[in-house]
Amino acid sequence: MKQKIRKGILTYSALLFPLTFFFMSPYVIIMSAADGIINGSALFFGSLLLFSIIGSRLFCGWLCPGGAIQEQAARSNNKAWNSLWKNRSKYIIWFLWLAFVVFLWMSNRPLAVNFFNMYGLDSHILIIYMAVVTLIYVFALVTGKRGMCHSLCWMAPFMIIGEKCADFLHIPRFRLKAETQNCISCGRCNKQCPMSLDVATMVQTSQMDSNECINCLECVDVCPKQVIGFGIKPKVAPTISSK
Ligand code: SF4
Ligand code: SF4
Repeated sequence: MKQKIRKGILTYSALLFPLTFFFMSPYVIIMSAADGIINGSALFFGSLLLFSIIGSRLFCGWLCPGGAIQEQAARSNNKAWNSLWKNRSKYIIWFLWLAFVVFLWMSNRPLAVNFFNMYGLDSHILIIYMAVVTLIYVFALVTGKRGMCHSLCWMAPFMIIGEKCADFLHIPRFRLKAETQNCISCGRCNKQCPMSLDVATMVQTSQMDSNECINCLECVDVCPKQVIGFGIKPKVAPTISSK
């Protein structure tokens, strides 16, 4: 049932994408910054960081229209992408992009806030919209399950930073938990995970936190032994075994 609701929300989010894409656009934020404007996407990215302090990456698993497009692409290519750099490149892209935005803000002070700056569906924006949707779909089609989340997403680092802040400050946040002793190593969780994580090993080593986990709860629902649960919890320090 949870997955039907999740997929329903994702589909609706994808349908609304022509209206919401301005607030997730890495391009509109640059164009706005060049005019000395803090726009809707800047405020949205900041909100994602704040939300993730408690909500981790629930946005990615349950609300992101880009995630919805990629889960459609996974119907054609459901393989895991095993590139060495797949989880690293997004940080480089994110850092360079954000540094450029901050540079533009610093160069164009005083700044103004305009949530709806550039908002509108003219032909110029429609072409960019189509290019973004095509990029997300084709990239996931070529690389495999949620390839763009792993490698290109400019929003994921904001949420990963939010998660790290929560853990550093011992703030409880949404996370998975496991009853390791009940696992029968059937591997269904690995097969089902849209982020291609080795969930079975995460369970068997009691290391349920992963930067790449999008909190979709597919592994929770597919497990025949109800090994995996979830909740809002603080980070548990690893136990040091005595010899
Ligand atoms: S580990 Fe579970 S909750 Fe996390 S992305 Fe994979 S299936 Fe979703
Ligand atoms: S689906 Fe459940 S029982 Fe099977 S490997 Fe994963 S955690 Fe273990």
